[in-house]
Amino acid sequence: MISNYAKNLKLYNSLTGKKEKFIPIQELNVGMYVCGPTVYSNAHLGNCRTFISFDLIYRYLKHLGYNVRYVRNLTDVGHLENEDDTGEDKVSKKARLENLEPMEVVQKYTLDFHSILNKLNTLPPSIEPSATGHIIEQIDSIKQILKSGFAYEKNGSVYFDIMKFNESKTYGKLSGRKIEEMLNQSRSLDGSVDKKNPQDFALWKKAEKNHIMFWDSPWGKGFPGWHLECTSMSKKYLGDYFDIHGGGIDLKFPHHDCEIAQSEAIDGKNPAKFWMHTNMLTLNGKKMSKSIENFILPNEVFNGNNKILSKSFSPNVVKFFIYQAHYRSVLDLSNDALIASEKGFKKLMSGFLSISKLNHNSEVSDFDIDLWISKCYAKMNDDFNTPMLIAELFECVKFINNVKINSKNLNTKDKERLAITFNDILFNILGFNSEISKVEKSNSQNELVELLIKIRSQARNDKNFTLSDQIRDELFKLGIQLNDDKNSSSFELI
Ligand code: AMP
Ligand code: ZN
Repeated sequence: MISNYAKNLKLYNSLTGKKEKFIPIQELNVGMYVCGPTVYSNAHLGNCRTFISFDLIYRYLKHLGYNVRYVRNLTDVGHLENEDDTGEDKVSKKARLENLEPMEVVQKYTLDFHSILNKLNTLPPSIEPSATGHIIEQIDSIKQILKSGFAYEKNGSVYFDIMKFNESKTYGKLSGRKIEEMLNQSRSLDGSVDKKNPQDFALWKKAEKNHIMFWDSPWGKGFPGWHLECTSMSKKYLGDYFDIHGGGIDLKFPHHDCEIAQSEAIDGKNPAKFWMHTNMLTLNGKKMSKSIENFILPNEVFNGNNKILSKSFSPNVVKFFIYQAHYRSVLDLSNDALIASEKGFKKLMSGFLSISKLNHNSEVSDFDIDLWISKCYAKMNDDFNTPMLIAELFECVKFINNVKINSKNLNTKDKERLAITFNDILFNILGFNSEISKVEKSNSQNELVELLIKIRSQARNDKNFTLSDQIRDELFKLGIQLNDDKNSSSFELI
C-alpha cells in the first residue's frame, strides 16, 4: 500500500528547473535509472556522494510503498578520455598500463565499488547491467537512429548528426546550451576528422589497429559510444518512458543531453519524466576528481590512512556528513567538517539509543509526536531535504534529553511511536548501519566519561570542588555536558 505521505512528495526536475509533484507513470511502480561508475579505477568519495544520494531516494520511494525498479549501469567500455570522442578508452588504457585483460580491470574495480557501497550500507540496485553485456542492444539502437535519419556512417564509425537533429528538435534541453553557442565555442580540430560537425558524437567508433576491445557490427569492428549504453539499457529494462533518470550534475552535458537526443531520435520521446542531478563533492574548493588528482578514497577515510584528515571516520559519519548538505548543494570535504559531523552523529545516536530507557510513566506527553512525524516527512517530501530532516531529529533529541532529566513528560504510547519513527528514519530511510551505530555508541568513549563521572563524584564527596568543577568544565569543552541529579550525574553530547 502506498503511504499517505506519498501524495505530497515533490522532486526538483532539472528538465524544468522546478520542484514538481511526484506522480509516477504507473500508480504503484517506479522506474529509476542512475548512471553508474566507469569501472577503471577505485570510486572516490565524490562518486560515493552521488550514489548515496540516489540510495536515499530509492530507500524513501520504497519506504512510501512503491515498487521500485532501480537500474544502475556499469560502464565497462566506450568511455573515452576526452569528451570529444578522442583519446583512449579508460578501461582499455588501464588494462594496457597494468598489463591486464580489460575484463580483469572491470572485475577488480567492480568488486571494489560494491565493497565500498556495502560499507556505506547502500542497497544494491534491482539490475546492474554492463555496457559490454548489451552490445547487441546498442547496435540495434544505432540502426534505429540511422533509420530515423539523425546519424551518419563515416569510415566504419557512426555519428549522431546534431545539426540535422536540431532542424526539427532541440539539442541541449537539460543544460540549456544553444547549438549556436556550442558552434562558436568549439575549436575546429575538436573530435574526429570524420565528423560533419565537432558537436556530433560517436554512436559507434571504429576500432583502430591497437584497440583491444571491439565487436563485429554492420559497420565493421568497433565499440559503442559512451552515451549510447544508457539509452539502450534504460529502454531495455525500464521502457521508453520511465519516472526518474539521475546522475551527477557533471553528466547533464553532454552525457544526458546526448541521451535525450538519442531517445528522441529513436522514438520521439524524452525518456524520463524527472531528471535529477546531485551536486559535486569538492575538496579544497575544487571538484573531487581523479583526473586533476584531487580526491580521497572512501577506504582512506575509514582507515585514516591519508594526508588530508587527522583521524579516521566511520562510514556512518561520512554518510551523516553527506546528508548535512542538500543533495543539490555543493559540499566541501574537510577535516573540521568531518569532526563536526562525527560529534553530531554521536549526539543523534546517543539520543536515539536512550529512547528505550526513558521514563514513560506519565499520563500525558509534552511532545506533539504527530506534528513532529509530519514535519519529518514534510522535509523528505521537499525534494529530500536531509539537512532539514536532521534538524527535526535534533529537535526531538532535545526533548529526549529533557525527559532524561525529568524536566519533560512522556507517555508509553508516544515513547513507542518515537522509537519506531526514529528507527525508521535512521536505518530504513537514511540507511545508517544499525550494527555499527551500536558499536560506535558503546565504544570506549562512553566508558571513559563514566569513569570521569565516578572520579568527579568522589571529588565532590571529598569537597574537592576545584577538581570536580574542572572535570565538568573540561568535559563541556569536549562537547559533553554533565547533568547533576541529587545523588548521581548523567551525561549528554551537546
Ligand atoms: P564516473 O565513474 O566518472 O562515470 O562517475 C560516476 C558518478 O559519480 C557520476 O554520476 C558522476 O556525476 C559522479 N561524480 C563524479 N565526481 C563527483 C563529485 N566530485 N561529486 C559528486 N558526484 C561525482
Ligand atoms: Zn549514463
